[in-house]
Amino acid sequence: DTPVLTIDGPSGSGKGTISRLVARKLGWHYLDSGALYRAVGVAAGWGDIDLADPAALVRCTFDTEIGFRDEGDELRVLVNGQDATDELRTETAGAAASAIAAIPEVRAALKDRQRAFRQPPGLVADGRDMGTVIFPDAAHKVFLTASAEERAERRYKQLNDKGVPVTLAGLLREILARDARDASRAVAPLRPAEDAVRIDTTGLGIDEVVDRVLALMPA
Ligand code: C5P
Repeated sequence: DTPVLTIDGPSGSGKGTISRLVARKLGWHYLDSGALYRAVGVAAGWGDIDLADPAALVRCTFDTEIGFRDEGDELRVLVNGQDATDELRTETAGAAASAIAAIPEVRAALKDRQRAFRQPPGLVADGRDMGTVIFPDAAHKVFLTASAEERAERRYKQLNDKGVPVTLAGLLREILARDARDASRAVAPLRPAEDAVRIDTTGLGIDEVVDRVLALMPA
C-alpha cells in the first residue's frame, strides 16, 4: 500500500510550505487539496456563477478541469488549461473556495480526484480533512496550528512580497472569519484526526517544523 502523510490545519498554519518541502525530502508526490477548492472557486468566478447557487457550483465542479505542473520551486495550477496560479492565491479565491467547500456534493465530487494522487512511492496530502475524510487510513498524520496573529503576519508577508495591496488588520479579520466558517460548517468541519500529531508552529522557523515532521517518519 502506498504510504500517505497527511498534513491538516487552518490557513496560514504553514501547511503548504511545510508539505511541499517534506514531499521533496521524501521524494513523494504532493497534493494541495485547497487548490482544488480554490480552482473551482476561480472557475465559478470566470463563469459568473452565483456562490449562493449550490446546484450550479456542483455542476461547475464536475465541469472544471484542474491540472498541476511542478516547476521545481513552484507548483503551477491550471484551471481548464489556463494558468491560474496567481489568481488562486487571492483572498477572493480563498473566500470562494471556503463557501464552495461547504457544499457536500462538491466535497464528494472532489474525493476521487484527491485519492488519485496516491501514487508510489508515497503522498504528502495537505488540507483540512486529509487525515479525517480523504485518507483516514494514512500511516502518518500531522495537524499544524499557529496563532491567528502569526498566521495573518505570514500571509501579509507573502502577499506584500508579491505587491498585493493588503493590510494586516484586514487579513486577521479574514482569517478569523474563515476559521469560524471552516470550524462551524456542517460538512467536514476543521478538526484534527484522533491519531494526528499536533504541532504548534507559532514562533517556529520553517526548517524546524520540517524537521519535526520528518522525525515522525520511519527512517
Ligand atoms: O488551504 P487553502 O487556504 O488553500 O483552502 C482554501 C479553502 O478550501 C479553505 O478555507 C477551506 O474552506 C477549503 N478546503 C477544504 N478542504 C480541504 C482544503 C481546503 O474545505 N481539504
